Amino acid sequence: MENILIAGANGAVGQKIVNLLEASQYFNPVAMIRKEEQKKQFESRNIDTVVRDLEEDISGVTEGIDKVIFAAGSGGKKVVEVDQEGAKKLIDLSNKTKIKKFVMLSSMGADSPEDADELKEYLRAKHNADEYLKSSDLNFAIVRPGSLTDEPGTGKIILDSKLKSSGEISRDDVAQTLVRSLHNDSANYSVFEILKGDNLIATAMNKVSAT
Ligand code: NAP
Repeated sequence: MENILIAGANGAVGQKIVNLLEASQYFNPVAMIRKEEQKKQFESRNIDTVVRDLEEDISGVTEGIDKVIFAAGSGGKKVVEVDQEGAKKLIDLSNKTKIKKFVMLSSMGADSPEDADELKEYLRAKHNADEYLKSSDLNFAIVRPGSLTDEPGTGKIILDSKLKSSGEISRDDVAQTLVRSLHNDSANYSVFEILKGDNLIATAMNKVSAT
């Protein structure tokens, strides 16, 4: 079993990732949360937790961890402190303990924040975190979804290194794609965009190619 640290495990996507990993025979989720009171919902299911705030000292958090999924985010409130610097801090620690793969929940538009009409600062922070990860020594998958919805997942997406138009995708399908990126070797050293679509996630992921 591989130990998977999920940053942002209490978030809407994070919780779905934890649920998928909990049901998997290959992965053991370790929920990174930032409040003591969030522990109970995980520990009552025998899920390991680590309580840390990405704005503070997080040293030691990757000890014993095989792979990381970064699904944390400040919701636009502290994009530099959390989405950018928090991610970079976790990338540095992951490098230090030589984890096997870092899966980043990024966003469509993070490739060229200056072209965005809105959310420029958020996208700039995501861009900087993504670039930092790409230039690290880590194996990575950078997954860039469109707007997230709470619609039930369909298990089907469209995926490409750069999609032609923007759109939506359910958090369910994003979580599925992130988890598949952990063990699908075609996602190694990759950056790709996803939206809801017609292709099974597993099939769509065969289209991923390394950068
Ligand atoms: P969410 O529900 O707001 O989850 C974000 C998680 O990050 C929460 O669990 C939050 O903790 C945690 N967090 C915030 N600040 C933190 C800190 N300082 N230290 C540690 N953890 C911290 O967001 P979501 O809907 O799951 O989306 C996840 C990410 O997807 C977003 O952050 C964004 O980067 C990306 N994304 C979003 C969209 C969209 O349309 N919304 C589109 C593309 C990509 P608490 O639970 O304690 O608040």
